[in-house]
Amino acid sequence: MSVGLLAVLLLVGAGPTVGEDRAGGGLKRFEFQETHMGSAFRLLIYCNDEELASGAARAAFARIALLDATLSDYKPDSELMRLSDRAGGDPVPVSPELFEVLARSRELSGRTDGAFDVTINPVVKLWRRARRNRELPSRSQLDEALSRVGWRDLELDAQARTVRLARPGMRLDVGGIAKGYASDAALAELRGAGITRALVAGAGDIVVGDPPPGRPGWRVGIASADAEAGERRMLCLRNQAVSTSGDAERFVEIEGVRYSHIVDPRTGLGLTGRSSVTVVAPDGTTSDSLATAISVLGPDRGLALAEDTEGAEALIVAIEPGQNQYEIRRTPGFDRWLTGPAEGDEPVPSLGPPES
Ligand code: ADP
Ligand code: MG
Repeated sequence: MSVGLLAVLLLVGAGPTVGEDRAGGGLKRFEFQETHMGSAFRLLIYCNDEELASGAARAAFARIALLDATLSDYKPDSELMRLSDRAGGDPVPVSPELFEVLARSRELSGRTDGAFDVTINPVVKLWRRARRNRELPSRSQLDEALSRVGWRDLELDAQARTVRLARPGMRLDVGGIAKGYASDAALAELRGAGITRALVAGAGDIVVGDPPPGRPGWRVGIASADAEAGERRMLCLRNQAVSTSGDAERFVEIEGVRYSHIVDPRTGLGLTGRSSVTVVAPDGTTSDSLATAISVLGPDRGLALAEDTEGAEALIVAIEPGQNQYEIRRTPGFDRWLTGPAEGDEPVPSLGPPES
């Protein structure tokens, strides 16, 4: 497997890790980083009390760690794994967090005709093995795995807060939505501690609260598929989220074809069109899952899905095969969030996802 370009650059005003902000009325900027869910999570916080900032950051990271322990499809004893172990059986009572992630996922499955499907795990597992061995899964392996995939058999009962995987052998994988959900939860934790001017970045999924003092928003740089051609785009966001999905980070190349870690549930194949999808949305759960869904749907249906989602805008940059050309498509409102470069912007790359 190769690790290519980082899909997201986080651009923030220059300055030390902790520093006085000129326009800030004494507010200081604090930065924290920990690794969870196999990704670097960063917190940027403006507040006037160092102890408050570090206490809130600890609480936010603890919340992310707890969600990792709940939602992981690597840790054999996570709640999600134990639920998968009971596929084909009776309804299982689950935590509010797991229920919410699955409810949001299933709703998006319905809206995308199954292009987004968190029961995709049996197929994703085959592709993880393919990346390790650099060998394509066989058609019969893919068909067998696909026979255990299907969002309609993910049965949710909101009243009883239970989940039933109706078919034996089904398994869940919330990798397309969990980092956005965890970033939302971390920002909520910071707000609960009284901190409103904060940014949470879980690799390519970034959630922001109120802006830094004296500024209209958080300046966030996105690196799309045309970043290698020197294209740079900056967004100015407040109380919003942005996610970028693409094959820049995780893919396998076999016999000259590049297969993404995002899988098309209709075929079981990793996506082969090279593109990046950036979604701005009111929250990270929405931006993360939409970015993955739009990657599968492609530009026409994908942009229609974004336009149909309250507060969402999308930018798709596709690399034309065999040419040094990019096709750029966006929802009409996307450019509203673009802003120019500013004096003192310094690119701070977020870390890519784990090798898997
Ligand atoms: P990243 O993890 O790089 O931010 P995404 O948010 O696009 O990327 O999520 C990709 C992950 O989503 C995959 O690693 C896999 O766990 C999961 N996934 C792959 N295909 C699908 C799909 N069609 N629907 C839902 N989840 C998917
Ligand atoms: Mg996603």
